[in-house]
Formats: sequence, C-alpha cells, structure tokens
Amino acid sequence: MRLTRFTDLALRAVMRLAVSGEGDSPTTREVAEAMGVPATHMAKAVTRLQHLGVLEARRGRGGGLELTRLGHQASVGWLVRELEGDGEVVACEGETPCPLRGACRLRRALREAQEAFYSALDPVTVDDLVASPTGPVLLGLSTRPG
Ligand code: SF4
Repeated sequence: MRLTRFTDLALRAVMRLAVSGEGDSPTTREVAEAMGVPATHMAKAVTRLQHLGVLEARRGRGGGLELTRLGHQASVGWLVRELEGDGEVVACEGETPCPLRGACRLRRALREAQEAFYSALDPVTVDDLVASPTGPVLLGLSTRPG
C-alpha cells in the first residue's frame, strides 16, 4: 500500500513539531524547508492537521506551529486513516466501473489487507516516531537562524 504525498507531508510536519522544545515554534515555511518540500503543499497539510486538533498555529511575533497534547499522543493509525480518507486501494467504481465490483473476492481481500495495514500503525504514537535515531536527525534539520 502506498500513502498519498499529502499524508506523507503531514506526517513529516507532525514529526518535526514533535521534537520542538520550549520556544521552538517553527513557521509552516520553516517546517517545509526543513523537510525539503514546497511551502504551499505543506500549508495544506498544516491546515488539515489544525482541523484534526493535532497542531495549533500561534500568530504574531515569535508565533509558529506547535503540536498539541493530542498531537503528541495521537495514534499514527488514526492519523493516517484521517488523512487518507475512505478510498480503497483499487478503483473498482468510477468512470468505468469494474464488472466484478459487486461480487469480487479480490476486492474483499484488499479491503482486509488495507485494514491490517492501518491496524499495524494503531499502537504507534507520534512521540514513538521521534525516538532515536529519528528525533536527533529532525532536530538537526531546523532552519531557524540563531
Ligand atoms: S477485479 Fe475486483 S478488486 Fe479489481 S477492480 Fe474489479 S472489483 Fe475491484
């Protein structure tokens, strides 16, 4: 199974923010630069994460992005499900629906495989993702001067 780029960007942002210490509230642009992605794409992911309650944006001087308590403790399985939506791994419906779609064992097996994929991520939290060696590498990517 392959995650959308949108989900990948959102997870990168969440990981970067999970290692932020006191007074380290990077902007969306800084997170994007640290992660090597366009700021416009990162902004869409940040907006979605705000709606999910995973992060907050503080305005004004010294403002920036911060992970919420929910964001730190969030299950990666829950987060990926929310970001990926209800889509199946194959396009059985759509403009040219597959003639087997009403009685297809492959479709059922793929749905079960998709659920197994998400279930494997359920016990993993965002904070788990930034344990060593990932966390120290993320801290080294910070682009904020000084
Ligand atoms: S063969 Fe089955 S899984 Fe593949 S597109 Fe058709 S209905 Fe979907």
